[in-house]
Amino acid sequence: MSSTQSPLLLRKKLIAGNWKMNKTAAEGVALTKEIVDAVGRETAVEIVMCPPFTALESVAHALEGQAIKLGAQNMHPEKSGAFTGEVSAEMLRTLYVSHVILGHSERRQYFAETDAFVNKKVLAALAAQLRPILCVGETLAEREGNQTLEVVKTQTEAALAGVKPEQITSVVIAYEPVWAIGTGKVATTAQAQEVHAFIRQLLTNLYGAALAQKVRILYGGSMKPANAPELFAQPDIDGGLIGGASLEARSFVDLVKAALALQ
Ligand code: PEP
Repeated sequence: MSSTQSPLLLRKKLIAGNWKMNKTAAEGVALTKEIVDAVGRETAVEIVMCPPFTALESVAHALEGQAIKLGAQNMHPEKSGAFTGEVSAEMLRTLYVSHVILGHSERRQYFAETDAFVNKKVLAALAAQLRPILCVGETLAEREGNQTLEVVKTQTEAALAGVKPEQITSVVIAYEPVWAIGTGKVATTAQAQEVHAFIRQLLTNLYGAALAQKVRILYGGSMKPANAPELFAQPDIDGGLIGGASLEARSFVDLVKAALALQ
């Protein structure tokens, strides 16, 4: 670490649940109620739940008065217009959404999202006071071809083009090795910490050390209560973006507790 201050003082851990295309509104409310009962007022760790668009409003109501924040899984960069099937940052804001996942590898892979498009979304989200959870990460072929750091550098720098120093601490970066997402294969702590430290160095080069030390960098990829404590204990891992394990209250709450144990 290039700062003498503890990372825990600079960066509150963040646990974000990415429900992907799972849960109806009613199922989402039921899950939210269970999570709220266990950790709804927890403030030592930041918690964000990202349901599908169709459950946002119902989950927003279930979160009223709680500390848990609401995130979306995607948005379109334009404010309005002929973009059938899309939603804008402003539309999300009216549903009390504070965060939005951008550049998830499933969007890049199945919906052909490019770095340039992800960049437009990051800028539009920030302009609308939404906090982007920007996902970056290499495929298995890229890791095996020793291209991990190069891929992460390209994705991170491209997505952050035009993001001003006063905006960067509103951005959360999620390092998600594509080969670890939904596969049960988790990166080793050494593999994850190496890339997280590399991303922090990229941020230092772009924004200076003081700001870079304040940006949260999450790990994502088959994170579970059993493997989280070791990952969360790494100096540059500031929490997790959780897919499968966010769909059940017990595993999600246990992940929050694993982060709390380190605060
Ligand atoms: C994700 O899709 O962001 C993710 C990390 O999924 P999983 O935890 O299921 O690997």
